[in-house]
Amino acid sequence: MRIETLWLGRGGQGIVTATYIIANAAVMDGFYAIANPEFGAERRGAPVKAFLTIDKNPIEDLEPIKTPDAVIIFDDKLIDSMRFAIDAVKPGGYVIVNSAKQPEEVRKIVGRNDVYIVVVDAVGIAMKHVGLPVPNGPLAGAFSKVMGFPRLESIKTAFENQLGKAVEENFAATKEAYEVAVVLKPEKVDTSAKPKGVISTTSAFLTGPYELVGWQQVNKGGAVGPGSSLQYLTGGWRIEKPIIDHSKCIMCRKCWLYCPDDAIIEAWREAPGPRGRVFRTKVIDFDYQYCKGCGICAEVCPTGAIQMVREI
Ligand code: SF4
Ligand code: SF4
Repeated sequence: MRIETLWLGRGGQGIVTATYIIANAAVMDGFYAIANPEFGAERRGAPVKAFLTIDKNPIEDLEPIKTPDAVIIFDDKLIDSMRFAIDAVKPGGYVIVNSAKQPEEVRKIVGRNDVYIVVVDAVGIAMKHVGLPVPNGPLAGAFSKVMGFPRLESIKTAFENQLGKAVEENFAATKEAYEVAVVLKPEKVDTSAKPKGVISTTSAFLTGPYELVGWQQVNKGGAVGPGSSLQYLTGGWRIEKPIIDHSKCIMCRKCWLYCPDDAIIEAWREAPGPRGRVFRTKVIDFDYQYCKGCGICAEVCPTGAIQMVREI
């Protein structure tokens, strides 16, 4: 028995820790396990993926995983950009998603009827027990529920080994997710069918497969342009988004000064005035295409005009 899995999420969500915990717990339960993460930009919020293989026998080949048995998605907003990984799940496999949406709605977004869809509001559960939007413990619980291993007791010991702190809180989140995760069975499975896609082996980058170009295609001097920051929509990284109460804003622009993604903008707003007049005033707003939800603007705002609200 061999289970190959791919864990996809964003920096700061504990993807790598989750795979280490499951690997550690699986070894305690008598399995062999290998967990290897792959990073992109080393920034909170940047996409991260980690591979985890568990086997009853020693794992001797270290080939990249091309068609996983399960994909675990830490943020339902990643489903579209991670379609290449979902397409590669073997028929009869599992797509485990952190989402507060209704399970049937998640099944529609995932778009596969030949795999198990497992839905758990991992962020909500983590907020309740740990006080932080870290879905890794709950997703470990959902994984254990559908795979039938590792045992919850082993996951708890793995938490102690890996975290050394807040073990009870994290384990309570794992246990609740184990109990409440919703499992939708596949509508039909042809286990002899091949998955629609295969995960690229060219070190596969996080938002999809890419092709390496030959030297003939590279511009003279190796210059690449324009800079990628405009094209790279960091708004897709958010777990929480800032909202503003304009009645509290004094237009000091401290939020603009500190925003790391240039996502604070000034916009004109029309408001009704006396005698039928319409006033135009400048207000602070957010460019949600690029706002990655770091919360710095809410932190630095001197009047408390900005609040962060949960988005997934
Ligand atoms: S949360 Fe605020 S500071 Fe952070 S990226 Fe968004 S607008 Fe900028
Ligand atoms: S920091 Fe707060 S008060 Fe200052 S401009 Fe931004 S939202 Fe307004």
